[in-house]
Amino acid sequence: MTQHPQDAASLHARHQSVLPSWLSLYYERPLELTHGEGRHVWDAEGNRYLDFFGGILTTMTAHALPEVTKAVSEQAGRIIHTSTLYLSRPMVDLAERIVALSGIPDARVFFTTSGTEANDAALLLATAHRRSNQVLAMRNSYHGRSFSTVGITGNQSWSPTSLSPLQTLYVHGGVRTRGPYAELGDRAYIAACVADLEDMLQQTAGGIAALIAEPVQGVGGFTMPPDGLYAAFREVLARHGILWISDEVQTGWGRTGDHFWGWQAHADNGPPDLLTFAKGIGNGMAIGGVVARAEVMNSLTANSISTFGGSPVTMAAGLANLNYLLEHDLQGNARRVGGLLIERLRAVTAGLDLVREVRGRGLMIGVELVRPGTDERAPEAASLVLEAARERGLLIGKGGQGGASLRIAPPMTLTVAEAEEGATLLADALQAAQGMLA
Ligand code: PLP
Repeated sequence: MTQHPQDAASLHARHQSVLPSWLSLYYERPLELTHGEGRHVWDAEGNRYLDFFGGILTTMTAHALPEVTKAVSEQAGRIIHTSTLYLSRPMVDLAERIVALSGIPDARVFFTTSGTEANDAALLLATAHRRSNQVLAMRNSYHGRSFSTVGITGNQSWSPTSLSPLQTLYVHGGVRTRGPYAELGDRAYIAACVADLEDMLQQTAGGIAALIAEPVQGVGGFTMPPDGLYAAFREVLARHGILWISDEVQTGWGRTGDHFWGWQAHADNGPPDLLTFAKGIGNGMAIGGVVARAEVMNSLTANSISTFGGSPVTMAAGLANLNYLLEHDLQGNARRVGGLLIERLRAVTAGLDLVREVRGRGLMIGVELVRPGTDERAPEAASLVLEAARERGLLIGKGGQGGASLRIAPPMTLTVAEAEEGATLLADALQAAQGMLA
C-alpha cells in the first residue's frame, strides 16, 4: 500500500526520538522499503528501485524468492524454535551442506545469528585453542559491532574505540590505493608487507592466536589484496602455528564469481583454519556461523549455547536458498554478469574525473571517487551519487576509506539487461554529482 510523503517524513521524525543517533542511515530522507521482487524493491511512496546493494548483500539470490518464502512458511507452520538444546533436521541438513562445501577437513559448524557473532565465536575458539588473547587484523578491515569485533576492526570510521580485551595488531596489505606502499608493484608490495608481518611477529615473541582477514574487504570499499599476498602471509603464520580466520561474511557463496569462497583466490596453502559466514545465506533471514576443524572447534570445554542460532525457520530458509543458488549456478552468473558489469562501468565512467577506479570480483564491485582534478578521496561525492542514483531508481552502497567508494553488490540472479540498465543509471547519477561539485 502506497503512503503519503508526509507519512514517510513522520516516520523519519519518530525514528529520531527512539533509535540511536549512530545508527547509520543512507539518504537525507531515509528510505522505507515495503516490498521486493527479484532484483527490485519498492518504497512506501510507491517508487520502484533496481537494487544494486541487495540489502547489504543479504538478498543473495532474489527478493521474495518463492522457494525461500515457501520453506520459511512451511517450517513456521510446524515449529519455529527449538533452541540448540534439541536437534532440528534443517540445522543438521544445512550443517552437512556447509561442511561439504567449506573445503576444511574434518569441519564442524556452529550457527549464530549474525556476522558479528560468527566472528566473535571464531575469536573465542582461536584464542582458546592458542591460549592467547593477541590477534592480527588487516588495516581498513571490518568485522562487526560487538566489543571484540569492533576491537579488531581496522577501518577507523567503524572502530572509534579499541577498549576490547583482545590485543590487536594491524597488518599492512588490505589496501594499496594510497599510503606508504602505493607506488610499489605487486611483488615489492608483497615483500614489504611480509617483512612488516615478520617484524611484528618478532616483537610479539610468538604469542599470537590468529590473523583474521576478509578476502575482499567489504565495508573497506571492495578492495582486494594483490594475488599472492595472503598466501605469503599464511606461509609465515603457519611457521608460527598462528591460525588463519577467513571472514567470508561478504565474500562467500560464489559472489566473487571465480570461486565459491573468497579464500580460494588465495588457496596456495589450502583452506583456512576457521571460516565465518553470514549475510547472504539466509537471503535476509538471520543466519551466521563459524566453520572450523574439529580440533579447533572443540577447544571450548565449557558448555555453550546459542538460543537463536540454528533456529529451524532460518535453517530452512538457508537450505532453500543454497539449493537455488547451486541449482541455478549463481556463482557462474556472478562471474559472467559481474564481469560484464565491471567492463560496462569502466566504459561509462571512462570520461568522468570523479571516478578514480572501478574494481572488483564477480558481483562485488567498488567505484572509488576523487575530487575532480585531484587524487583526494571524495566522500561527499559518494553521498551525492547515492542521492542522485536514488532519484533515478537505483540503490547502491558506499564504504571504503573515508567513505569515498561506491559499493555494488546486487542479488546474484542479476540479468544482463539489469546490469546494463544499472550501469546507465549509475553513469547518469555520477555525471549529475560531478556537475554539482564543479
Ligand atoms: N564481517 C564482515 C566482513 C562484514 O562485512 C560484516 C557486516 O557488514 C560483519 C562481519 C558483521 O556482520 P553483521 O552485521 O551480520 O553482524
